[in-house]
Amino acid sequence: PWASMPCQPRRISVCIRKRPLNQREVELNDTDVVTVSCQGMVIVHEAKQKLDLTQYLNNQVFRFDHAFDGHAANELVYRHTAQPLVDIIFQGGMATCFAYGQTGSGKTHTMRGSISSKGIYVLVAEDVFRRLQYPNYQKLELWVYGAFFEIYRDKVFDLLNRKKRLRVLEDGKKQTQVVGLCEKEVTSMEDVIRLIETGSSCRMAGQTSANTQSSRSHAIFQIILKKRGQLYAKFSLIDLAGNERGADITTADKQTRLEGADINKSLLALKECIRALRHNKAHTPFRASKLTQVLRDSIIGRNSYTCMIATISPGIRSCEHTLNTLRYANCVKEL
Ligand code: ADP
Ligand code: MG
Repeated sequence: PWASMPCQPRRISVCIRKRPLNQREVELNDTDVVTVSCQGMVIVHEAKQKLDLTQYLNNQVFRFDHAFDGHAANELVYRHTAQPLVDIIFQGGMATCFAYGQTGSGKTHTMRGSISSKGIYVLVAEDVFRRLQYPNYQKLELWVYGAFFEIYRDKVFDLLNRKKRLRVLEDGKKQTQVVGLCEKEVTSMEDVIRLIETGSSCRMAGQTSANTQSSRSHAIFQIILKKRGQLYAKFSLIDLAGNERGADITTADKQTRLEGADINKSLLALKECIRALRHNKAHTPFRASKLTQVLRDSIIGRNSYTCMIATISPGIRSCEHTLNTLRYANCVKEL
């Protein structure tokens, strides 16, 4: 019986997911500079040049809770990241799963998935409905709701209500609340999939290409459990804005620069909050951004669990961004 007992997940776990080289990269003769080896090890072979112009490879080694290479399917990534946290919400805890990385590295592929490969949104929902059938959990009489919103330029927009702008308030007990957020009851996977599609198409509305504005906003999909109308637990699944910021500083476009600055600020705040929690600091800088403000209750509670999936591109052309992503993930991880 012990062998089948799920072990208690870590409070904060960090894994890396490398995607395969895509067709365009193959055509451009881009080379794969990332090796994922056993036990969560990731090695980046960075091309460097000596003063005498001879080329050499500088290997940088990182270690995480898990690392997945380009062959790993969404299900495998899920099993080692978000899945262990599903039991946490049935015990009344809070769970959060982030996808962090450069635009085009696989965040949306991981979280929302596609027709051919279920993403973490769907995989979590399936497990939630499966558990509702367990006699032990049936007794709890829980109801399931879904919410979907995005944060763009430090403002919250409801993806289930035509991008209505929402306010965030903090009550006397320091609980944050997104006022008027649509929470839709879901009783089947069809309901969940409809919510995901409604929200995703709302997120993309008015965009010229698939990866323009959506890569500059954080999308937050929440599966909420309620008991007698009261919040029981929440699972927040977050497709973060692309973390490539360097480009934004040099751009002439003011809008893009401002977007970049907001993304920077929120990702920095997220890192600082998680680090503060790790070190049990009294002060966590949650107010520094809307992202951390709305997630405060989910991350800070005594029974809160967070996993981060940092997605990386394998190509030599993305090497700088990949190293930035790995350094960020390295700061977040538990030692
Ligand atoms: P992001 O959301 O980080 O900007 P996407 O998830 O949109 O990136 O991924 C960019 C492209 O790469 C998409 O066409 C996606 O299907 C593909 N892709 C990403 N990760 C993988 C993977 N692990 N395996 C296969 N294809 C992937
Ligand atoms: Mg995306």
